[in-house]
Amino acid sequence: MTVAAPREYGHFIDGSWREPASAARIDVVNPATGELLARVPAGDSSDVDAAVDAAGKAFGKWGRSSPGERQRVLLEIAARIERRAIDFALLETQNVGKPIRETRSIDIPATIDHFRYFAGVLRHIQGHTQTISPSMLHFTLREPLGPIAAIVPWNYPLLLAAWKLAPALAAGNTVVLKPAEQTPLTVLELAAELADLLPPGVFNVVTGYGPDAGAPLARHRGIRKVAFTGETATGRLILQYAAENIVPATVELGGKSPQIVFPDADIDRAVEGAVNGICQCQGEVCFAGSRLFLHRDVHDVFLEKLAAKMSGLAVGDPTKEETQVGSLISREQLDRVVSYIETGKKEGARLVCGGTRPDDPSLARGSFLTPALFDGVRNGMRIAQEEIFGPVLSVIPWSDVDAMIAEANGVAYGLAAGVWTRDLSAAVRTAKALQAGTVWVNMYGYVGAGGPFGGYKESGFGRETAFETLSHYTQTKSVYIGTSEKKTGGR
Ligand code: NAD
Repeated sequence: MTVAAPREYGHFIDGSWREPASAARIDVVNPATGELLARVPAGDSSDVDAAVDAAGKAFGKWGRSSPGERQRVLLEIAARIERRAIDFALLETQNVGKPIRETRSIDIPATIDHFRYFAGVLRHIQGHTQTISPSMLHFTLREPLGPIAAIVPWNYPLLLAAWKLAPALAAGNTVVLKPAEQTPLTVLELAAELADLLPPGVFNVVTGYGPDAGAPLARHRGIRKVAFTGETATGRLILQYAAENIVPATVELGGKSPQIVFPDADIDRAVEGAVNGICQCQGEVCFAGSRLFLHRDVHDVFLEKLAAKMSGLAVGDPTKEETQVGSLISREQLDRVVSYIETGKKEGARLVCGGTRPDDPSLARGSFLTPALFDGVRNGMRIAQEEIFGPVLSVIPWSDVDAMIAEANGVAYGLAAGVWTRDLSAAVRTAKALQAGTVWVNMYGYVGAGGPFGGYKESGFGRETAFETLSHYTQTKSVYIGTSEKKTGGR
């Protein structure tokens, strides 16, 4: 599946490759090398119409399929991805620029596990019955919604597609998925892999830019729910589109997550967690732990270890096993991150290490950056308030716990947080006080199927990766049956 020569893709609609309505194409490149990997259609509303139409027709049968059948299909999806796990991992690495050690150990295994998880829990989609009146029987049914619009970003293309596709299919919905224009390849390969497994129209992929393909999809009248992951600004638009048709939407958006180090923390473990929290996927992670609240009592010793660890990371070719930090997604993203580093310096923060392009000439065509560490950051600075989406860590020293919690919560976002302490009471108190959809204690950045994941505040709403996700992909029907000889109902 790795790319030897650039490949031409069509849209995947109604079970097969479909020529796009317009000839416009998008070049998909390897961000680490600049090499052309593939060309995909720059889809528009005609392509979206065809895909939604196919999804609408397929829903008739798939929506009435038995749970056992859907379970069998989801387990087979997992098995097929697993059989080609290394191919998917390599392709994801080539397209996103992130290290193979991550795609092999996180992205692809987590994708497989998501299909297995939802294959299991779909058998527990249940209604309930209760006695409302002795003269009637009441029960509820959980029914699928219909065609789902799934729109995903470029940082975890296959995994975030699975976060939507697995629960949507499990509940009996059909899907039209729009991957990010930069990274559509693993999702297109997944569609190809499943062509003879899923009935035509159950899973469709339309590629293209957000305004041209994403917007017509999200506001299409044939869509019954929008499931979105991406930037907060785009999420606002998505909610407006969904409102036009009065359909539900779940939005997983940006973050500016705090990691809090108490003075009694296991310093070495916390250093490790702080580094992984900001360097995983080059910091291009919604839950990146980008603000590090360091207690003043341990500040100096912690910072020294942190700087040593961060500057010792292997930045380079993401396909090499030893690489720990790959390439940012594009030149544009690199420039954006570098401009934030300049802003941080101007705001008066002290750059301790990193934030430079690596010297190695073989990396010159990629968008590599050594992870940057700022000390002496104040929470009001732009580098502490805005999502940078790159490997830039801001250390904010603290001594008063209440003031620190207020600052930790003092951002627009509320996606995740980390707490490092050996004191159980402090851990629980802090976890409760933080406005975040996920809090990790003495660990950071793990999202496992079964644990609900989603945001507080401007990080969005809805919960993915868990049993309750199925409630976002079903609707409740209340059925009353009159059981008495006497007339019931009416007036
Ligand atoms: P983005 O919002 O620019 O794009 C996301 C998707 O939306 C892409 O497919 C894009 O083409 C599409 N899109 C763009 N404009 C659109 C429009 N007007 N209508 C419909 N679709 C449109 O985000 P990105 O730059 O690809 O991804 C980075 C962002 O995603 C970051 O903010 C990150 O925090 C967030 N993210 C959140 C989570 C989470 O679970 N909360 C996970 C990963 C990434």
